[in-house]
Amino acid sequence: MNSSSSYAPRSDGFYPHLDAYAPMGNLVVRNLDAAMQPATREEVCRVLRKTRLDERDFALLLSPAAGEELEAMAQRANAETLRHFGKARQLFAPLYLGNYCTNRCVYCGFHADQAIARRVLSPQAIEAEAKALAATGLRRVLALTGDDSKRTGAAYIAEGVAILARHFPSVGIEVQALTTEEYALVTRSGADSMTMFQETYDPELYARLHLAGPKRDFAFRLDAPHRAAEAGMRGITMGALLGLGDWRFDVFMAGMHGQWLQRFFPQLELAFSLPRIRPRSGNESKNDVGTDPLNRGHRFFEPHIVTDREYVQALTALRCFMPHAGLTLSTRERAFLRDRLLDLGVTKVSAGVCTAVGGYAESGSVTDTVQDAVQFVIDDQRSVARMAADLEALGYQPVFADWLLPKGGDMPLTEALRCSLGGIADRPGAA
Ligand code: SF4
Repeated sequence: MNSSSSYAPRSDGFYPHLDAYAPMGNLVVRNLDAAMQPATREEVCRVLRKTRLDERDFALLLSPAAGEELEAMAQRANAETLRHFGKARQLFAPLYLGNYCTNRCVYCGFHADQAIARRVLSPQAIEAEAKALAATGLRRVLALTGDDSKRTGAAYIAEGVAILARHFPSVGIEVQALTTEEYALVTRSGADSMTMFQETYDPELYARLHLAGPKRDFAFRLDAPHRAAEAGMRGITMGALLGLGDWRFDVFMAGMHGQWLQRFFPQLELAFSLPRIRPRSGNESKNDVGTDPLNRGHRFFEPHIVTDREYVQALTALRCFMPHAGLTLSTRERAFLRDRLLDLGVTKVSAGVCTAVGGYAESGSVTDTVQDAVQFVIDDQRSVARMAADLEALGYQPVFADWLLPKGGDMPLTEALRCSLGGIADRPGAA
């Protein structure tokens, strides 16, 4: 089964809970609390004094009333981040394996109707990309593709991951929704994490924004994190693309989805990412979404602008609600804001990013056409070295890898341990 319209949502998935949580998400948008009373700043302050927050508290922190208590939310988010993550911040970069896509997502520069240069990396080109990116010092990579099962299906992704795993101890994927078996294949090839954005948790809006292609199947995508966890993925990053619908609703639902998944898989390394919509690639992409709606061909779509203040509220609310969860911030955001958000909950940042396919190895020779074929415009253009230096200057520890598998391929674990310890059999007490 692969994203066909006959897909039946799993009964143990999040889909059956959508209808239960959506009303609460809609109340948040209207600044009402769970008792249908207007949310107040006093209530927000009371919630921020609690030790543990429940889903009603989370809803309240996303309300317009909480926007008036942003400093108090920032203080709480800062304290939670320090308590759970200290001053360590992880660095990573995306690596685009291909940009063919059969979907028509109206907000994306890679969608099937876009007349952009398309390519998919050969194994040799992936190797070259991996070497170029690893030379920057990064040890975490996120492999991305569009959604084209013929050109970049699960077997291709698994092959690409296996190549990347030779250069990076941590390889994540951000690809089309896969089946459990496909996730297992990719996991066996060396992927340890996956990122999946539901885009929006409003099924009706989702249908209007995803005009054609396998991604139109809302439920198949919604169940993807569950399938990936089931298949053995160590880490899962989830979230919504802010600006498609009402951000308060989507952040609330993303939090509920994450909480549900964590209950189901307590060992899971859960993280969130909340990208804001950016100008897309293509002829009409050069202006900011604030002045140029992304709907020239799809005139019904107007992005909902999420202000910086609202964005800070979304991130701090999520940090207060799920203090253990990682929070990833992309280079879509500008450097100044990214640096400030490190204090408020962000634990992982991308650096030295190129969103063009083949963009790392070919940075000196890549054609203008290929350079134009980027999925979205990045704002923070700092190199890896510069980002690491800036983190240190701000008092943070840049973390390139927080765990390393010993080299040695199929070496028996006891043998690997023997090598690591310099001979466990010789130690007192050894059997
Ligand atoms: S968002 Fe993803 S699936 Fe949709 S058009 Fe872009 S690359 Fe394709």
